Amino acid sequence: MVNEKQLRDEVKKLVSRDDVKYVIGYEQGTYGFQVTPSFAFTPEEAERFIFSPLCANNLSVYLMLEEKPPLRKGEKEDTRKVGLVVKGCDARAVVQILQEKGLKRESLVIIGVPCTGVIDPKKITVKFPHQIKPVDVREEGNHYVLTINGKNQKIPKDELLFEKCKQCEYPTPVIHDVLLGDEVKSTKKEEYKEIKTLEKKALKEKWEFWSKAFDRCIRCYACRNVCPLCYCKECIVDQLSPQWIYRSVNRSENTVWNLIRAYHLAGRCSGCGECERACPMNIPLTMLNKKIEKDIKELFQYVAGVNLEEKPLLAMFKPNDTEDTIL
Ligand code: SF4
Ligand code: SF4
Ligand code: SF4
Repeated sequence: MVNEKQLRDEVKKLVSRDDVKYVIGYEQGTYGFQVTPSFAFTPEEAERFIFSPLCANNLSVYLMLEEKPPLRKGEKEDTRKVGLVVKGCDARAVVQILQEKGLKRESLVIIGVPCTGVIDPKKITVKFPHQIKPVDVREEGNHYVLTINGKNQKIPKDELLFEKCKQCEYPTPVIHDVLLGDEVKSTKKEEYKEIKTLEKKALKEKWEFWSKAFDRCIRCYACRNVCPLCYCKECIVDQLSPQWIYRSVNRSENTVWNLIRAYHLAGRCSGCGECERACPMNIPLTMLNKKIEKDIKELFQYVAGVNLEEKPLLAMFKPNDTEDTIL
């Protein structure tokens, strides 16, 4: 994993530059397994930065959340860069945003972390419930070492690792200005095992599976708010005129919402898994995203967020695209 001193030194260097506004990274949370986003404007604030297997959040969402109030008369736009710490999957979201011209490359300084996987907060909280005091976690080979109340516990990595990390094809950020450590090469290939199993089921069984899942949705929109690629100025679910989706929480409206969310991410989702992590109702949103990802790979040989030179999927066509998708 990352040398934290090296990380802090890089951040200190960056925030000391005149052309850098601030850097976004991680700091220790106030309880249990929590790690929280951290914003360093000064070298002193960079001292708070950490990187551990608990750093699951995709921080690129903050790039799209910064409010840019209208300029006063005579005021100049602040064009300073924002620094960002990214893992492999986070970097794919950044590439996707850049491809879509949501941001300019020159507005960013990217600190890449070659990633060996992060812990699924839901798994670790089930295994070690009611942890109030902050827990220190580090990686040692194929194990995690947890320091709880001064005592060390060794847990096999496989038991706590996010499922997405078990098939990660891009652990080293595909875009970076600084890379903290040696490249981590992936030997894994996305196999879509779960998706293939679901695809084989009868239509009625599929409907039962998804309607049961969507029935649980409370329409909190945490999945949308945490997603770095959900950055429309006004989300379709917030529009009242016309009102495309009713606010009532029922199977019909929940289904519409979840399918719209998934389709708006078609060919754009970077597979960071943040939507599912944030979902308080444990709805298997990754399955929806992965099904669409798999179809797009098969139909158009396209993978989102891996090539800055490429156009976004929906902004290009190839002469040999299959025509049966065109209505
Ligand atoms: S999916 Fe890959 S880059 Fe993302 S956290 Fe897991 S191992 Fe790291
Ligand atoms: S849809 Fe989910 S997995 Fe895809 S980019 Fe958004 S938060 Fe990440
Ligand atoms: S986070 Fe989960 S419960 Fe909330 S709107 Fe999204 S799918 Fe529904």
